[in-house]
Amino acid sequence: IMNIKIDEPKVDNLRRGAENPDEYQRANATLMILSRNQDASSIILTIKQIEKHFNSKFHYPYVFLNDKEFSQRFIDRIKKHISSEAFFETIDPADWNQPDFIDKEKQIAGMQKMADENVAYAKKMSYHNMCRYYSKGFYNHPRMRQFKWYWRFEPGTQYYCDIDYDVFKFMEENNKTYGFTIGLYDIHQSVETLWPKTLEFVEMHPEFVNPNGAFSWLVNDLQNPGKAKYAHGYSTCHFWSNFEIGNMDFFRGEAYSQWIQFLDKTGGFYYERWGDAPVHSIGLSLFENRDKIHWFRDIGYTHSPYTNCPNSDKCSGCEVGKLNDDLKSENCLTNWWNLEMDQSARDMY
Ligand code: GDP
Ligand code: MN
Repeated sequence: IMNIKIDEPKVDNLRRGAENPDEYQRANATLMILSRNQDASSIILTIKQIEKHFNSKFHYPYVFLNDKEFSQRFIDRIKKHISSEAFFETIDPADWNQPDFIDKEKQIAGMQKMADENVAYAKKMSYHNMCRYYSKGFYNHPRMRQFKWYWRFEPGTQYYCDIDYDVFKFMEENNKTYGFTIGLYDIHQSVETLWPKTLEFVEMHPEFVNPNGAFSWLVNDLQNPGKAKYAHGYSTCHFWSNFEIGNMDFFRGEAYSQWIQFLDKTGGFYYERWGDAPVHSIGLSLFENRDKIHWFRDIGYTHSPYTNCPNSDKCSGCEVGKLNDDLKSENCLTNWWNLEMDQSARDMY
């Protein structure tokens, strides 16, 4: 793989921007981020790269979401670095805060147990809220509802490659629902009951399961046949969600909506520390056609400590194949290739 040049996503009908940006018809899409006022500097670092490599050509609007009000200083600083419209929005506390039905004693015990096992952010309340919001809230924020497509980005992440095509139109025209760059295992202690609870839901609603879902990736782990990393049947493989490009109609649809309501009622976002990455990944793998899930092999990306670095003349600043060399045991991408891609798709990589 490392010897092959990777300059483009490997599908037909690659859609490029018009020569004259004023005449260009954008997709109904936004670059979105959840952040705090103190994240401004690290957001600017990332926005500079997104603008340079992509958005200075396409001018997609940004949405900034926050559980607190954004300061005027944050808004002024950010606006200096973007080439498009930007919306700075506050999240309704009812959508952000922990719901009343959470059993406090059970929560404290669960958080302590995870802390004892070194689960990151086990006791950080805001982190639990954040994971729940990214699992069940963001796509229904009143501002987000005006859009169909989103590209999630995070403070301090790096983008290394020129992206000279419109990624949103690429998704739309190639009939994709969700795109990712990095696939990882999760800490099994953070998602112990996520899979058993999901199976309960699926037994009640078998009609939601997509016949061409990515099931085997969820339950078979080729790299760890000893099952050391399993969480009660779930391989813990997930698309790393700090970068994702997706169609929010999927999340707003019947299957995902009913499932996420069901999951929320179990309290697992607080008794455990379910991440939005495994939640998105399981939802997509069960309820969407796996052919609609796209690996952006051409998007060079780092969220510390993991990198996707294509061997491409369009990229600079990252080390080709870095993730595979340094952190191989955390990398779940080969399971995705081996279990979910059909032969013709695999041949292209
Ligand atoms: P990690 O990548 O899992 O270590 O988590 P991060 O700290 O990067 O948080 C994920 C995303 O949620 C980032 O975009 C953060 O800026 C954002 N975030 C995390 N916690 C909060 C919070 O309490 N309030 C707001 N507004 N954003 C948050
Ligand atoms: Mn992060």
